[in-house]
Amino acid sequence: MSDQRRTSSRTCVTKKTSLPTVTQNVRKTANKSRKINHQTSSDTNSATRRHESPDIQNSTKRTRLDSVNSNKLNHKKQKDVSYNDDTDDKIDRCAICLDDCTEPKQLDKCTHIFCTACIDQYFETVKPQCPCCFTIYGEIRGNQPLNGTMTIDTSKHRLPGFEHDSRGTIRIVYHFPNGIQDESHPNPGTPYHGTTRTAYLPENREGRHVLSLLQKAFELQQIFTVGQSRTTGYDNVITWNDIHHKTNVNGGMENFGYPDKTYLNRVKQELAAKGIK
Ligand SMILES: [Zn+2]
Ligand SMILES: [Zn+2]
Repeated sequence: MSDQRRTSSRTCVTKKTSLPTVTQNVRKTANKSRKINHQTSSDTNSATRRHESPDIQNSTKRTRLDSVNSNKLNHKKQKDVSYNDDTDDKIDRCAICLDDCTEPKQLDKCTHIFCTACIDQYFETVKPQCPCCFTIYGEIRGNQPLNGTMTIDTSKHRLPGFEHDSRGTIRIVYHFPNGIQDESHPNPGTPYHGTTRTAYLPENREGRHVLSLLQKAFELQQIFTVGQSRTTGYDNVITWNDIHHKTNVNGGMENFGYPDKTYLNRVKQELAAKGIK
């Protein structure tokens, strides 16, 4: 497991960060850079390229692209038209080794094609997620510290917005002691600060369902991560990992509380984005 995480944290395209919007942007950029890679990869030495980071690859490729003769460029541009439409590109070039596909294997949900050996190894050692479009093909484990606890109790108090369709409130308490970061975290060997967080759900059918998803996410180490806090700016702390929680009973959306009509749907989407549904 620690090997998996080590590999995972090295992979730029799918690298975890505590900043969701940045992650999304990076992913989009990475996607684009892969597309550029497809255009030019046949012109360059793929063995060297495998050891370059995507960013370096990208800038190098751009320079190389400029020097490609015009015939080739036109040809590539024509190919590029089909890459850039919104229907996911079907290509015969493997986005992992950047070479022509050996024993092509097509993923069933997103239809992206890779070498069988490349994608099998990627799923096994990095994560079960398409490296091109991020479609999830299994459960993804996060790097939330393993020694945390998730405790649940209920009260009769009804949350704002659920006065008439709940029996009360589900309270979740997450607790993590201080610890030392491992290879899956940003600063291995450096201590991190523990935390205790409380969150609330309505005690009704949908609230119970969300609770079961959160329990699954907790088991998959997905609720928290270690890094920089977005609210305090402190580094080496346990932070939320893009699955929003209601940490207040009252106060509405702006205070991370209720009422918030769309919260349960939103959090289900956030969980689904991590393969939990
Ligand atoms: Zn390949
Ligand atoms: Zn895909």
